[in-house]
Amino acid sequence: MSGYLALIDKLAVEGTLEHGEFLALLKGRSEDTAQYLFEKARAVRHAIYGRDVYMRGLIEFTNYCKNDCFYCGIRRSNREADRYRLTPEQILDCCAAGYKLGFRTFVLQGGEDPYYTDERMADIIRAIKSRYPDCAVTLSIGEKSRESYRLLREAGADRYLLRHETANDEHYAKLHPASLTLANRKRCLYDLKDLGYQVGCGFMVGSPYQNDACIADDLLFIKELDPHMVGIGPFIPHHQTPFAAEKPGTMELTLFLLGVIRLMLPGVLLPATTALGTIHTQGREQGILAGANVVMPNLSPRDVRTKYMLYDNKICTGDEAAECRVCLQRRMESIGYNLTVARGDYIPPQRSFVLPVIPESNITDGKEGSDPEERKCYV
Ligand code: SAH
Repeated sequence: MSGYLALIDKLAVEGTLEHGEFLALLKGRSEDTAQYLFEKARAVRHAIYGRDVYMRGLIEFTNYCKNDCFYCGIRRSNREADRYRLTPEQILDCCAAGYKLGFRTFVLQGGEDPYYTDERMADIIRAIKSRYPDCAVTLSIGEKSRESYRLLREAGADRYLLRHETANDEHYAKLHPASLTLANRKRCLYDLKDLGYQVGCGFMVGSPYQNDACIADDLLFIKELDPHMVGIGPFIPHHQTPFAAEKPGTMELTLFLLGVIRLMLPGVLLPATTALGTIHTQGREQGILAGANVVMPNLSPRDVRTKYMLYDNKICTGDEAAECRVCLQRRMESIGYNLTVARGDYIPPQRSFVLPVIPESNITDGKEGSDPEERKCYV
């Protein structure tokens, strides 16, 4: 047990582990050790973000998709999906309603829908930014060329969510058709970062064929990319996909990984996702207590919500935006956190948050980073 806790301590101090150590951490986890991890993760997030929880208004503006990801309910081959697109006016109406409710980030998410050309997307982004200059616009519209990302960034997009889905090539090929590659997904993420977006990667927990080695690969890739945001949530099967009969991911492992990611990237914006709230009624609250600091309620018009079904039984499909806002506020208050009205940009961790944890005698080993100033921890 103490060797195991030492791994968590090492993660808190160094921000990463070796591949084999991540495997040991995952394999040996228990309820007690998870509590130890969550306490450290909370201490880190409190030092940087206090008890604030940022909210992002999710606008699911199209469920047309040219891709055929095996896990996703809006994949091209799902002929049963009832397809829709929101007009620019409908999108702006969602923003107007959201702004009144205190949202200062709008996330435009959709399938990869060729109808929304770069020009159409740029027009929508410009319209939102001119009406709400104090708000951030986040895009989550899949893989594009560097040139397209550049145009959208110039139009005013601030952030981009593109989960890498899995950082293991073989696993990637089991979740996607051959036309989609991990190499291109990674290329997109590096281009986005280079273009000055705040970038989010991430993966599904418990996706089919995922094992601990895949997760260790994911964690090491996240460390390498050093994103501003990480989205993880449990895989949940959708009945009209090839993975209809697969098992969902667990809350337990999702929470554990939220804690690990908080220790790896202290300033990361980390949502307690809707998928986590779908597999357990207290999933989002537990996510916050494990180290998450973002929630993403739905601002899509009510009549399209049941059509944006990435997975079965998705929550909040019958509620109005205002109801979601009140419900989440209550949920956050119930665990001692506040839902805040703020853009909620990434805060790079500062030295001022740093407290020493290792005795001075242990930190003069001459190795890289042995400067006492460098070898401090956030908890
Ligand atoms: N087309 C965009 C948005 C995809 S939907 C893109 O490619 O980025 C956002 C995320 O939902 C996906 O990245 C995926 O990780 C997640 N998702 C899709 N199907 C899911 C399922 N069955 N269970 C849980 N999460 C799922």
